[in-house]
Amino acid sequence: MNIILLGAPGSGKGTQSKLLVEKYKFNQLSTGDLLRSAIKSASEFGKLAQSYMNQGKLVPDDLIVQIVGEYLNLNKNKSIIFDGFPRTEIQATKLNELLENAKSELNFVLYLKINPQDLIDRLTGRRVCAQCGEIYHVHTKPSKNGDKCEVCDGSLVQRKDDHKEVILERLLEFDKNTGPLIEFYKNKEKLITVDAELSTENVFSEIQKKLSL
Ligand code: AMP
Repeated sequence: MNIILLGAPGSGKGTQSKLLVEKYKFNQLSTGDLLRSAIKSASEFGKLAQSYMNQGKLVPDDLIVQIVGEYLNLNKNKSIIFDGFPRTEIQATKLNELLENAKSELNFVLYLKINPQDLIDRLTGRRVCAQCGEIYHVHTKPSKNGDKCEVCDGSLVQRKDDHKEVILERLLEFDKNTGPLIEFYKNKEKLITVDAELSTENVFSEIQKKLSL
Protein backbone atom coordinates (compact mmCIF):
# COMPACT_ATOMS: atom_id res chain seq x y z
CA MET A 1 0.00 0.00 0.00
CA ASN A 2 1.33 3.47 -0.92
CA ILE A 3 0.17 6.53 0.99
CA ILE A 4 0.97 10.22 0.65
CA LEU A 5 0.90 12.36 3.80
CA LEU A 6 -0.08 15.83 2.67
CA GLY A 7 -0.11 18.79 5.03
CA ALA A 8 1.45 22.15 5.82
CA PRO A 9 4.80 22.26 7.65
CA GLY A 10 4.09 21.42 11.30
CA SER A 11 0.86 19.50 10.64
CA GLY A 12 2.44 16.31 12.03
CA LYS A 13 3.42 14.42 8.87
CA GLY A 14 6.75 13.25 10.31
CA THR A 15 5.24 12.19 13.64
CA GLN A 16 2.36 10.25 12.07
CA SER A 17 4.69 8.64 9.50
CA LYS A 18 6.89 7.32 12.29
CA LEU A 19 3.86 5.83 14.09
CA LEU A 20 2.69 4.13 10.88
CA VAL A 21 6.19 2.79 10.26
CA GLU A 22 6.43 1.38 13.81
CA LYS A 23 3.02 -0.26 13.84
CA TYR A 24 2.52 -1.33 10.22
CA LYS A 25 6.04 -1.71 8.84
CA PHE A 26 5.68 0.91 6.14
CA ASN A 27 8.83 2.42 4.66
CA GLN A 28 8.96 6.17 5.18
CA LEU A 29 10.22 8.30 2.33
CA SER A 30 10.75 11.78 3.75
CA THR A 31 12.26 14.04 1.10
CA GLY A 32 13.09 16.57 3.87
CA ASP A 33 15.08 13.89 5.78
CA LEU A 34 16.88 12.80 2.60
CA LEU A 35 17.81 16.42 1.88
CA ARG A 36 19.04 16.97 5.45
CA SER A 37 21.29 13.91 5.24
CA ALA A 38 22.65 15.16 1.89
CA ILE A 39 23.46 18.45 3.67
CA LYS A 40 25.21 16.58 6.50
CA SER A 41 27.35 14.67 4.01
CA ALA A 42 28.35 18.04 2.45
CA SER A 43 27.77 16.72 -1.10
CA GLU A 44 27.33 19.19 -3.98
CA PHE A 45 23.69 18.19 -4.07
CA GLY A 46 23.39 18.90 -0.33
CA LYS A 47 24.93 22.35 -0.71
CA LEU A 48 22.54 23.23 -3.50
CA ALA A 49 19.52 21.96 -1.54
CA GLN A 50 20.61 23.87 1.56
CA SER A 51 20.54 27.20 -0.24
CA TYR A 52 16.81 26.73 -0.92
CA MET A 53 15.92 25.15 2.42
CA ASN A 54 17.54 27.86 4.53
CA GLN A 55 15.24 30.39 2.86
CA GLY A 56 12.14 28.23 3.23
CA LYS A 57 11.92 27.77 -0.55
CA LEU A 58 11.11 24.53 -2.31
CA VAL A 59 14.04 22.63 -3.80
CA PRO A 60 13.63 22.40 -7.63
CA ASP A 61 11.36 19.62 -8.87
CA ASP A 62 13.96 17.85 -11.04
CA LEU A 63 16.32 17.33 -8.07
CA ILE A 64 13.53 16.04 -5.87
CA VAL A 65 12.13 13.71 -8.52
CA GLN A 66 15.62 12.31 -9.03
CA ILE A 67 16.10 11.38 -5.34
CA VAL A 68 12.60 9.91 -5.15
CA GLY A 69 13.25 7.83 -8.31
CA GLU A 70 16.48 6.49 -6.76
CA TYR A 71 14.68 5.64 -3.51
CA LEU A 72 11.90 3.77 -5.36
CA ASN A 73 14.46 1.78 -7.35
CA LEU A 74 16.05 0.62 -4.12
CA ASN A 75 12.69 -0.14 -2.47
CA LYS A 76 10.72 -2.06 -5.08
CA ASN A 77 7.49 -3.81 -3.99
CA LYS A 78 7.48 -2.16 -0.57
CA SER A 79 4.66 -0.22 1.10
CA ILE A 80 5.71 3.40 1.20
CA ILE A 81 4.59 6.49 3.06
CA PHE A 82 5.49 9.59 1.10
CA ASP A 83 6.15 12.26 3.74
CA GLY A 84 6.60 15.75 2.30
CA PHE A 85 6.43 14.57 -1.31
CA PRO A 86 4.87 15.52 -3.68
CA ARG A 87 4.77 19.25 -2.96
CA THR A 88 3.92 20.52 -6.45
CA GLU A 89 1.67 19.35 -9.28
CA ILE A 90 4.73 18.51 -11.36
CA GLN A 91 6.00 16.23 -8.58
CA ALA A 92 2.55 14.63 -8.27
CA THR A 93 2.46 13.86 -12.00
CA LYS A 94 6.01 12.48 -11.90
CA LEU A 95 5.16 10.29 -8.90
CA ASN A 96 2.32 8.79 -10.88
CA GLU A 97 4.72 7.94 -13.72
CA LEU A 98 7.32 6.49 -11.35
CA LEU A 99 4.72 4.27 -9.66
CA GLU A 100 3.28 3.15 -13.00
CA ASN A 101 6.76 2.22 -14.24
CA ALA A 102 7.26 0.20 -11.05
CA LYS A 103 3.85 -1.53 -11.69
CA SER A 104 2.64 -0.04 -8.47
CA GLU A 105 -0.03 2.51 -7.57
CA LEU A 106 -1.02 5.21 -5.13
CA ASN A 107 -3.74 4.06 -2.72
CA PHE A 108 -4.54 7.05 -0.49
CA VAL A 109 -3.63 10.65 0.16
CA LEU A 110 -4.03 11.60 3.81
CA TYR A 111 -4.50 15.32 4.21
CA LEU A 112 -3.58 16.52 7.73
CA LYS A 113 -5.73 19.61 8.03
CA ILE A 114 -4.81 22.29 10.55
CA ASN A 115 -5.46 25.97 11.28
CA PRO A 116 -2.43 27.98 9.97
CA GLN A 117 -2.24 29.98 13.23
CA ASP A 118 -1.40 26.82 15.21
CA LEU A 119 1.45 25.96 12.89
CA ILE A 120 3.69 28.82 13.96
CA ASP A 121 3.52 27.71 17.63
CA ARG A 122 4.13 24.11 16.67
CA LEU A 123 7.12 24.90 14.49
CA THR A 124 8.88 27.47 16.67
CA GLY A 125 8.70 25.05 19.64
CA ARG A 126 9.76 21.98 17.69
CA ARG A 127 13.06 20.30 18.59
CA VAL A 128 14.52 17.27 16.83
CA CYS A 129 17.17 14.78 17.84
CA ALA A 130 20.28 15.44 15.73
CA GLN A 131 21.08 11.72 15.90
CA CYS A 132 17.86 9.71 15.40
CA GLY A 133 15.35 12.36 14.25
CA GLU A 134 12.86 11.84 17.12
CA ILE A 135 10.56 14.87 17.32
CA TYR A 136 9.83 16.88 20.52
CA HIS A 137 8.13 20.16 21.43
CA VAL A 138 9.33 22.49 24.19
CA HIS A 139 5.79 22.84 25.64
CA THR A 140 3.62 20.00 24.41
CA LYS A 141 6.19 17.17 24.26
CA PRO A 142 9.37 18.05 26.16
CA SER A 143 12.07 15.38 26.48
CA LYS A 144 12.23 13.78 29.95
CA ASN A 145 15.98 13.92 29.38
CA GLY A 146 16.25 17.76 29.20
CA ASP A 147 18.09 18.77 26.04
CA LYS A 148 18.96 15.15 25.22
CA CYS A 149 16.86 12.62 23.33
CA GLU A 150 14.89 10.06 25.36
CA VAL A 151 15.48 7.40 22.71
CA CYS A 152 19.20 7.66 21.95
CA ASP A 153 20.62 10.41 24.20
CA GLY A 154 21.50 12.52 21.13
CA SER A 155 21.35 16.33 21.36
CA LEU A 156 18.07 18.10 20.65
CA VAL A 157 18.36 20.90 18.13
CA GLN A 158 16.11 23.44 16.47
CA ARG A 159 15.97 23.05 12.68
CA LYS A 160 17.36 26.12 10.89
CA ASP A 161 14.11 26.41 8.96
CA ASP A 162 12.01 26.39 12.17
CA HIS A 163 12.81 30.07 12.82
CA LYS A 164 9.89 32.45 12.42
CA GLU A 165 10.86 34.31 9.20
CA VAL A 166 11.66 31.03 7.42
CA ILE A 167 8.45 29.45 8.71
CA LEU A 168 6.39 32.25 7.17
CA GLU A 169 8.06 31.63 3.80
CA ARG A 170 7.45 27.86 4.08
CA LEU A 171 3.77 28.47 4.81
CA LEU A 172 3.53 30.73 1.75
CA GLU A 173 5.18 28.02 -0.37
CA PHE A 174 2.64 25.53 0.96
CA ASP A 175 -0.32 27.73 0.03
CA LYS A 176 1.03 28.52 -3.40
CA ASN A 177 2.45 25.16 -4.55
CA THR A 178 1.20 22.36 -2.34
CA GLY A 179 -2.29 23.62 -1.47
CA PRO A 180 -3.53 22.97 -5.05
CA LEU A 181 -2.68 19.27 -4.60
CA ILE A 182 -5.64 18.96 -2.21
CA GLU A 183 -8.03 19.64 -5.12
CA PHE A 184 -5.85 17.57 -7.46
CA TYR A 185 -6.20 14.42 -5.32
CA LYS A 186 -9.82 15.15 -4.41
CA ASN A 187 -10.60 15.01 -8.14
CA LYS A 188 -8.82 11.66 -8.35
CA GLU A 189 -10.92 10.40 -5.39
CA LYS A 190 -7.83 9.59 -3.38
CA LEU A 191 -8.10 12.25 -0.69
CA ILE A 192 -8.90 11.45 2.96
CA THR A 193 -8.98 14.43 5.31
CA VAL A 194 -7.92 14.09 8.96
CA ASP A 195 -8.29 16.74 11.67
CA ALA A 196 -4.64 17.38 12.59
CA GLU A 197 -5.51 19.66 15.51
CA LEU A 198 -6.29 16.64 17.69
CA SER A 199 -3.62 15.11 19.93
CA THR A 200 -0.98 12.92 18.27
CA GLU A 201 -2.71 9.75 19.58
CA ASN A 202 -6.14 10.83 18.37
CA VAL A 203 -4.85 11.81 14.93
CA PHE A 204 -3.24 8.39 14.71
CA SER A 205 -6.44 6.56 15.65
CA GLU A 206 -8.41 8.65 13.12
CA ILE A 207 -5.91 7.61 10.46
CA GLN A 208 -6.18 3.93 11.40
CA LYS A 209 -9.98 4.13 11.33
CA LYS A 210 -10.16 5.97 8.02
CA LEU A 211 -7.70 3.61 6.33
CA SER A 212 -9.33 0.54 8.00
CA LEU A 213 -5.90 -0.57 9.25
P1 AMP B 1 10.25 19.02 5.51
O1 AMP B 1 11.20 18.34 6.40
O2 AMP B 1 9.36 18.08 4.75
O3 AMP B 1 9.47 20.11 6.21
O4 AMP B 1 11.13 19.77 4.38
C1 AMP B 1 12.07 20.76 4.71
C2 AMP B 1 12.46 21.55 3.48
O5 AMP B 1 13.05 20.67 2.51
C3 AMP B 1 11.31 22.22 2.74
O6 AMP B 1 10.99 23.48 3.32
C4 AMP B 1 11.90 22.36 1.34
O7 AMP B 1 12.86 23.40 1.28
C5 AMP B 1 12.67 21.04 1.18
N1 AMP B 1 11.81 19.98 0.64
C6 AMP B 1 11.40 18.84 1.26
N2 AMP B 1 10.63 18.09 0.46
C7 AMP B 1 10.52 18.79 -0.70
C8 AMP B 1 9.81 18.57 -1.92
N3 AMP B 1 9.05 17.47 -2.09
N4 AMP B 1 9.92 19.50 -2.89
C9 AMP B 1 10.68 20.60 -2.74
N5 AMP B 1 11.35 20.88 -1.61
C10 AMP B 1 11.28 19.99 -0.59
